Amino acid sequence: MLLPLSMSKTVLITGSTSGIGLGIAREFAKAGYNIAFNGLENNGAKIAQEVGNEFGVKVFFSSANLLQESAIELMIQEATQQLGPIDVLVNNAGMQFVAPIENFPGEKWNAIIGLNLSAAFHTTKQVMGSMKTRGFGRIINIASAHGLVASEFKSAYVAAKHGLVGLTKVTALEGAPHGITANAVCPGYVDTPLVRNQITDQAKSHNMTEEEVIAKVMLVKHAVKKFVKTESLGALCVFLASEHAELITGTAIPVDGGWNAQ
Ligand code: NAD
Repeated sequence: MLLPLSMSKTVLITGSTSGIGLGIAREFAKAGYNIAFNGLENNGAKIAQEVGNEFGVKVFFSSANLLQESAIELMIQEATQQLGPIDVLVNNAGMQFVAPIENFPGEKWNAIIGLNLSAAFHTTKQVMGSMKTRGFGRIINIASAHGLVASEFKSAYVAAKHGLVGLTKVTALEGAPHGITANAVCPGYVDTPLVRNQITDQAKSHNMTEEEVIAKVMLVKHAVKKFVKTESLGALCVFLASEHAELITGTAIPVDGGWNAQ
């Protein structure tokens, strides 16, 4: 049986009022963790409270825009005041934009690198000192199959996710003497709002139905022709936060239906 470290541990999950982050938050709540939520959804506070009520855990919500370093600092200060020190950090917030390099807008490049990579550096920087002092920490970066392989038209996303895998390895080495592990989780396609938007856009640009885009453009990469479930990613994160995972560090774990095996 996988035991969570303690019923009173606190996890901060960025981008957790939608999609994968919300799935991860629900699994940690089920395991008894207090949850610091973050996201830009208008009903974020309500979503957080509903999860807290359903599982009987304490919750905190921050609408911090992670493109601003000062907002990240404030979010972590407030979360720590309300729920105690962050034991587990899940860097999940991310965005996507798809265009050939010659047409890729510079501001989209900056935003994707800012959110998918630099924000994870800033959150990690804010929690490392306290984790070192307490001799325990778990840092989980939600990268992507695109942290390990490339696809055309996703220059910023692929660069950011490869960078995030690199940051994970450095964090693992620096954390190792202090009971801190760092790992990257690398999902294939997951049916979330981020992917739904791509399906709609690609159906228009390829003149296909949404079903055709799913089968011929997306799941064509997976050997197992299914979307990854958010709760499966959540369960993996809870395991990585457990005592049993103390020697799993510096890894990039594909959850991609065999995409990376090809
Ligand atoms: P999503 O769009 O459903 O959720 C993204 C979350 O990030 C939302 O809560 C949103 O409010 C938040 N966010 C966006 N910009 C923000 C900002 N500036 N500041 C704070 N929060 C912000 O997306 P998702 O599909 O759940 O993706 C979550 C993570 O998983 C991303 O890092 C994504 O790259 C990664 N991922 C997704 C897939 C997939 O197929 N959906 C596959 C591999 C990796």
